Amino acid sequence: MMNDTRFSGYADPSLHAHGLWIGGRWLGGAGIPVTDPATGQTIAEVPDAGFAEATMAVDAAAAAAEGWRSTPPRQRSEILRRWFELMREHAEELALLISLENGKALADARGEVAYAAEFFRWYSEEASRVAGEFRTTPSGTHRILVDHEPIGIALLITPWNFPAAMATRKIGPALAAGCTVILKPASETPLTAYAMARLGAEAGVPDGVVNVLTTARPGPFTAAILADPRVRKLSFTGSTGVGRTLLAEAAKTVVSCSMELGGNAPFLVFDDADLEATLDAAMIAKMRNAGEACTAANRFYVQSGIHDAFVEGLTARMRAMKVGPGYEAATECGPMITVQAVDKIDRLVSEAVTQGAKATTGGTRPGNDGYYYPPTVLRDVPLGMSIGREEIFGPVAAVYRFETEAEAIALANNTEYGLAAYVFSRDLVRAMRVGKGIDTGMIGINRGLMSDPAAPFGGTKQSGLGREGGVTGILEFMEPKYYAVEF
Ligand code: NAD
Repeated sequence: MMNDTRFSGYADPSLHAHGLWIGGRWLGGAGIPVTDPATGQTIAEVPDAGFAEATMAVDAAAAAAEGWRSTPPRQRSEILRRWFELMREHAEELALLISLENGKALADARGEVAYAAEFFRWYSEEASRVAGEFRTTPSGTHRILVDHEPIGIALLITPWNFPAAMATRKIGPALAAGCTVILKPASETPLTAYAMARLGAEAGVPDGVVNVLTTARPGPFTAAILADPRVRKLSFTGSTGVGRTLLAEAAKTVVSCSMELGGNAPFLVFDDADLEATLDAAMIAKMRNAGEACTAANRFYVQSGIHDAFVEGLTARMRAMKVGPGYEAATECGPMITVQAVDKIDRLVSEAVTQGAKATTGGTRPGNDGYYYPPTVLRDVPLGMSIGREEIFGPVAAVYRFETEAEAIALANNTEYGLAAYVFSRDLVRAMRVGKGIDTGMIGINRGLMSDPAAPFGGTKQSGLGREGGVTGILEFMEPKYYAVEF
């Protein structure tokens, strides 16, 4: 496959496996194999950074900090704009690279590159729009002036499921705000991050403003960086478990934290929903990235009157999906990221089926190479199963039946997570009322896709702290400074 002519330039894994990106230079090394999940074969090896490299990265980010924060916002904006344009120019190659190391279908990878690039465009526009505040005190004795300053060096930690978008969603606002950064991508998908670093350098990002390091020992590596008093921000996207560990670590030096953590999205379908449109949206909410998304619909609650038709329609659509290597043109559902991910899905499905759930399609783990699990629909899933509590993170739709609106809201809220929820009804007033009753940071109303760089993305409860994207996303990388002015 590597002889495929599409795999040249940025899509070539070997191009991005030459070293850590620190201070505008490649520092060689090895130690972390990168695997193609479609075959289980190693496609590249990237360096395993330790304490010494962590310190070098902080030094590089610190050396570049003053120059970058004093670079005019307009100039920072133009560099981000150029980076956006380069991502679009190389979109097809980046999509192939993502598909290769992550496994996702090319259509999903193309969608990710477009989405990822938009964060650079959006924050190139926001860089010069940060507004302060000016007011008279209630006592009338003096004035309050509030300015926003870059918070300082930021450590960015990203997951494997959106290797480009989770990086740009952090780098975009950080650079727009005037911060220098150290990005630690997931070990499963480091090649996209290194490819992005190359494009950033080409776009004119000064040396040391963006540093990218991979490590096989993320705990000690992160602890070393957070212990350095020059580092003032941690922006993390990943699982709730690791998020909790990092919050405790960051507490030692009282580092500001933004946390984008796990989800357990409910998908509510009322009797009056438009069935076909709801099924289309259900496929997007469930099957984008083969279900490996934090916003993925994890629990389908369907009202009795539409339940059977919904299950039938969803089953037909899921059964028709073409499963295969992500980088093959016909593929709609690629492999999972690792064999452990397949083990988890298999455990959740087996437990539910043992307790009475019925698979209307899929439900059996295939015996072939690669980390595959078939698109699956489970109906009559009993309440209280692990499949309703844990993130499935795979192509499995668990369907439950409900009768009343109050019951649906209670079921939706019965989770420690609060990232996303979906509501389907032709009655918009009802849909909004139900949305108001659900405790999540994001609600899709008659829509299966909510990610948008112009919107504040994030969760309540144990799904996280802070918001990425939108107008407020840049403030996660800034500190307000209040001047009390005597006049
Ligand atoms: P993960 O928590 O295992 O890993 C995320 C990142 O943290 C990786 O870079 C990993 O190397 C690093 N890491 C792991 N242990 C660490 C430690 N002890 N110290 C420091 N860093 C550590 O998550 P994952 O499996 O890569 O990604 C899937 C998870 O991410 C799911 O829970 C998903 O819901 C969540 N996610 C959330 C969002 C969101 O915006 N809320 C977006 C995408 C993914």
